[in-house]
Amino acid sequence: KTLLLLGSGAREHALAEKLTRDGATVHVLPGNAGIPNSHPEVNPLDFEAVKALAQAHDAKLIVVGPEAPLAAGITDFFAGSDIQVFGPTRSAARLESSKVWSKEFMRRHGVATAQAWPFRSDNIAAARVKAAELGGHVVVKYDGLAAGKGVYVCSSPEEADAAFDDLQTSYSGWFSFLLEEKLTGPEISIIGLTDGHVISLLATSQDHKQLLAGDYGPNTGGMGAYCPVPFADDNVLATLRRDIVDPTLRGLQIEQFEFRGFLYFGIMLTPTGPKLLEYNVRLGDPEAEVLLPALESSLLDLIEATLNGTLSRQGVVQRPGAFVGVVLASSGYPAPKFPTGFPIAGLDNLPNDVRAYHGATRRDDAGQLVTNGGRVLVLTAHGHDLESAIARAYEACAQVTFQDAYFRTDIAQRPAPVLTA
Ligand code: ATP
Repeated sequence: KTLLLLGSGAREHALAEKLTRDGATVHVLPGNAGIPNSHPEVNPLDFEAVKALAQAHDAKLIVVGPEAPLAAGITDFFAGSDIQVFGPTRSAARLESSKVWSKEFMRRHGVATAQAWPFRSDNIAAARVKAAELGGHVVVKYDGLAAGKGVYVCSSPEEADAAFDDLQTSYSGWFSFLLEEKLTGPEISIIGLTDGHVISLLATSQDHKQLLAGDYGPNTGGMGAYCPVPFADDNVLATLRRDIVDPTLRGLQIEQFEFRGFLYFGIMLTPTGPKLLEYNVRLGDPEAEVLLPALESSLLDLIEATLNGTLSRQGVVQRPGAFVGVVLASSGYPAPKFPTGFPIAGLDNLPNDVRAYHGATRRDDAGQLVTNGGRVLVLTAHGHDLESAIARAYEACAQVTFQDAYFRTDIAQRPAPVLTA
């Protein structure tokens, strides 16, 4: 089975590796220096070019890593052709691409979520008044795709005012945004494959979005992840299904959405029960870099079952033990500019239970592997329990080196939360 995979990060490396292990021949576009069969010349947003590559390799399946091609309608583009796309249609992708629309969908279908008020850019004054009423304990969210940069978590009226000022300067023209009540509690991610009727859930996982240990500093694309989450026991999972996952599936059916792909639920376990923070219509990154090595079942079979409407007969089997992924980043990330081009050493001879997924890497003119951006590599280790996976991951972080490498030293080490609901 030959397929195309769209994207260029460590998530796509993990997807390509897993699908190859499952027996597929995988062409990745644009891919990167660490991903075999990469096609750097093809832009995944140029659907005609994607089609030409699919035809050249007789690929009948396209798996989409990032959100942009989905939000741009790649699934609709190939609808009715003999090429199937694993990913939702453009209108269903609004679950991720519009936070205002997504919140309305949650409300229509009784999905547990934070209270929120939509505003338009010509009415920021009213939003300031509402935020002040709430004592500044609010989250301000730009409506559209902003690569993790359009969310401001505030704890005072001054912080909320600064968030509105930043919205005004960052986005020009007419836009919408959400003002949301600020929730508290530990976060977990649940990701499944769904055909819009049935969902097969992968392991629970936790991301570490902030740059600095202890969850301080600016937000990033994610500095590490682990799975499964020890405190997400059967009780927690049953509540999540009842309050969030099942109402979402009912909503997809009622609104007759074509949704065959990964669906991601970003959830906060608040003192009054689990609340959905956001949907993503794809695998999370870096969650994918722990969930895919943890997946014993064939992902290729699961994807085909999703596309053929036979998903209910497929069970997802996880490998035992724990998986911890640590991001090796360039110092300076996530600022817009920082030095890159440093040689990467130590990738040979990693132990069998460690995988190195390439994000921002490239080969220089001499063929040497060098850094090429913020999140350079994800090192994922498997252990029989969380402690041993953490130890293995950090041994690997000591072995793989490049100038000014930065990583968080506390991935998968948050204290266990006390769950009150
Ligand atoms: P991602 O990069 O995961 O796609 P995003 O930019 O789309 O993120 P959200 O996931 O909605 O935005 O929010 C980012 C982070 O902000 C969340 O992981 C969470 O830590 C925090 N957050 C979002 N909504 C709330 C809320 N209502 N209360 C408290 N924190 C929140």
